[in-house]
Amino acid sequence: ERSSARAASAPAAAAGERLQWEARYRAFQSRDVSIDMTRGKPCAQQLSLSDALLGLPGRGGYVGEDGGDARNYYGGPLGLPEARRLFATMLGAPAEQVAVANNSSLALMHDMLAFALLHGVPGGTQPWTDETDRFLCPVPGYDRHFALCEAYDLEMLLVPMTGSGPDMAVVEELVRDPRVKGMWCVPVYSNPTGETYSEEVVQRLARMRTAAPDFRLFWDNAYAVHHLTDREEGVPSILALSEQAGHGDRPLVFGSTSKITFAGAGLGMVAASRTNLEWYARHAGVRSIGPDKLNQLRHVHLLRNHSGLLEHMNGHRAILAPKFALVEESLRRHLGGRGVATWTTPRGGYFVSLQVREGCARRVVELARQLGIVLVPAGKTYPLGHDPRDSNLRLAPSFPDIADLAVAMEGICLSILLACTEEPLP
Ligand code: PMP
Repeated sequence: ERSSARAASAPAAAAGERLQWEARYRAFQSRDVSIDMTRGKPCAQQLSLSDALLGLPGRGGYVGEDGGDARNYYGGPLGLPEARRLFATMLGAPAEQVAVANNSSLALMHDMLAFALLHGVPGGTQPWTDETDRFLCPVPGYDRHFALCEAYDLEMLLVPMTGSGPDMAVVEELVRDPRVKGMWCVPVYSNPTGETYSEEVVQRLARMRTAAPDFRLFWDNAYAVHHLTDREEGVPSILALSEQAGHGDRPLVFGSTSKITFAGAGLGMVAASRTNLEWYARHAGVRSIGPDKLNQLRHVHLLRNHSGLLEHMNGHRAILAPKFALVEESLRRHLGGRGVATWTTPRGGYFVSLQVREGCARRVVELARQLGIVLVPAGKTYPLGHDPRDSNLRLAPSFPDIADLAVAMEGICLSILLACTEEPLP
């Protein structure tokens, strides 16, 4: 009884303590700080790991392994065989089931969705329709997934994340509705919660009965190899499990080198059943004669094979792990035990996700902004930008250098302390 009454009001902060925070906040305001913590962008030092790309494939390096000339139209819409092989292990698929495209996996997801709306997908009897069709959206999630649904008027149904993936009881209930055609999944080091789906969750997603025969998992494995610790997380191949369960056409598995090589100037790729891949090639082949094969060759020359790719990722880890450690240490030191916020300690990926006291997230973002620290707008991790509890914040520690990050964390923690201990206005 008592504890629930206390939970509803602001966590207690001694008046003297609040005065101290306010004084520190004012002092901070007079510093000339300008730090961007919004998007999960690699920092320049990370980008430099791939600088060899700038000189590749080099004069004379334009010949593919089958003797084709990559300066010319050559190959099909699925990309070069050597590039498809390079990413097969990362996507958990045989190379024949991989398509390597251009610079953005998001563009691939967009095109799959657009093709589904225009033409329908294998197993369906008609095109998907924006008036009725629905998508499952685990929350908090990736804002650009939600933006795709919003742009095409697909209704979004919220599914809570549990710490080991989406709440499967909710998912299994919702997919009994034939209007539910798809679901967004970031199975490894999820954006923004950092959680990895448990094997049980992946099994259930592969096996569940869906009322829609043309249901698709949009399996965005953007952080498959982005480990920050020795305890590397991963998921079993959704393609293999779905195939075993008799739902081989269910998953569309996306990957990207945006956070492996150059963000926005790397490669996007997709793995899927042969049927889905043919469907994709048919429509993608209308849209374009084929992807940029020189960029594919560049990547093959730089990364070579899956172990080359993993070695390359160690370089990212060495740069990123200290930044994530700093964020964790700072949150613990300033906020630990105060009852104002909880946060994730991810073992990989690009984000730390915070739950601040309900109704306070927007205020935190505003207070941080007045200190010169730009956070992603509160609510952004929810469909239509609306966090029903106004509680989730996403921190992206990769871009600022470590000195700026330390400053930003001090300002963010101060903003959280102040916002979450304010009594609501009468
Ligand atoms: N998926 C997820 C989960 C992401 O966080 C991002 C942003 N880096 C992307 C996709 C975008 O990838 P790309 O640059 O390949 O479009």
